[in-house]
Amino acid sequence: MKRNTIQRSLTLEAVQKLKNHPTADEVYEEISAEHPTISKGTVYRNLNQLADSGEIRKMEIPSCPDHFDHCCHEHYHIRCLKCGRVFDIDMDYISDLEKSVKNAYGFAIKGYDLVFKGICPDCSQALENRADADAKDSVNNKEKEKCE
Ligand SMILES: [Zn+2]
Ligand SMILES: [Zn+2]
Repeated sequence: MKRNTIQRSLTLEAVQKLKNHPTADEVYEEISAEHPTISKGTVYRNLNQLADSGEIRKMEIPSCPDHFDHCCHEHYHIRCLKCGRVFDIDMDYISDLEKSVKNAYGFAIKGYDLVFKGICPDCSQALENRADADAKDSVNNKEKEKCE
């Protein structure tokens, strides 16, 4: 196999293995753990080539690094506002949503990305734990006040 082909399949495998919409940096970390000689530039270039050829999907989210999706069929996503992780959403695809666009300034619409936002279960749990700790602190402080 040619060197380029090997790097390309390593990149594709990493995206498929990570599943959860990794960023280019996360894909690079995954590959370089086993192949320390691969450069970040190579991984980035291969990710973009794979996205261009439709083998993976590149998700461009405003003010976030690009995420790469092993899953190429049309589906929607939700992104955690705390940790930035992206998850697939189980929901029917609205295939003719483009048709509801009233004025597209003459654009030929090629598709759309729909990303919901929220707080993931891990982060909600962490927030709850912190709220509990804060609540205990304030109780402790009150008790201290009483003693004085
Ligand atoms: Zn989160
Ligand atoms: Zn996805």
